[in-house]
Amino acid sequence: MVAQMLDGALVASKLNAETAERCRALIARGVRPGLAAVLAGDNPASRSYVASKAKTCARLGLHSEIIELPAETTTAELVALVATLNARADIHGILVQMPLPAPIDAQAIIRAIDPEKDVDGFHPVNVGRLALKQDGFVPCTPAGVMALLDHYDLPARGRRAVVLGRSAIVGLPLSLLLLHRDATVTVCHSRTPDLAAAARSADILIAAIGRTALVTEDFIQPGAVVIDVGINRVTTGEEVEACFGGDPARLADIEKKGYTLIGDVHPRQAAERAGYLTPVPGGVGPLTIAMLMRNTTLAAERACR
Ligand code: NAD
Repeated sequence: MVAQMLDGALVASKLNAETAERCRALIARGVRPGLAAVLAGDNPASRSYVASKAKTCARLGLHSEIIELPAETTTAELVALVATLNARADIHGILVQMPLPAPIDAQAIIRAIDPEKDVDGFHPVNVGRLALKQDGFVPCTPAGVMALLDHYDLPARGRRAVVLGRSAIVGLPLSLLLLHRDATVTVCHSRTPDLAAAARSADILIAAIGRTALVTEDFIQPGAVVIDVGINRVTTGEEVEACFGGDPARLADIEKKGYTLIGDVHPRQAAERAGYLTPVPGGVGPLTIAMLMRNTTLAAERACR
């Protein structure tokens, strides 16, 4: 069996086109959706995520601003900044890029964000709304995964879904979304015994653990839908050989950047066993940003209702 690749970039561009249209309609009414992205400290990965979010805002017609703060910023200072953003009529979405520098109390910052501007969907009010299937903001990566399943007409109803990982930003909300779509959901984590056996029962397998190629062929039921959320780095030729069969494009990637991206799923083994598979990169990643754009536009629509 050779898995059909699920093209996240394609689905993201379709979603972005819809968002740009909604954004134009708002601008015609005098409202430009605005996103404030707060970046504290000097984490290079965070910097590049925030930059690409701002770039996508500009491309789709949203206003965005990046607020950079030193790593020494205190929790109280950041809470005060969030309060000013909560009060601004031109900012509809507030994103505080995680992880925050260690001394800052991340939960206190999330609680400080107005739930109606919480476009990441991390505020306890939005987590509660999601659990109870009420309207709110759904975290972007899980929402992106559901959009991908919808685009390829891969229904969850009546299927066995296994989610590897129970984090507040991916595993937990995704398990709720699948449950709301009438899947029978199993959530696995670092204390689950015999992870492979649990994973093998899945018609829809989601890997969101942050472990390079941990999901090998023995985790996958033949024909299953496999969604790889993980983003990890591979830096050596030996790893490229083991995971990508020495793919020259991957080796060139390492030559150029010092690494190549890989998910939690072994790409070659999964491609031979799964029915459907997301690539890394180009699978779930682009959908996360597309959903952030959609949530920010939705926040603006709700604000001027
Ligand atoms: P996290 O570290 O917060 O959570 C990891 C989860 O995996 C935990 O619940 C833990 O119990 C579980 N886990 C860890 N090791 C395990 C093991 N050996 N066996 C079973 N379970 C194990 O991570 P996260 O923020 O949920 O992110 C997970 C992965 O998804 C990371 O690689 C991250 O980079 C990636 N990610 C990608 C996107 C995207 O846009 N594609 C967005 C968010 C996160």
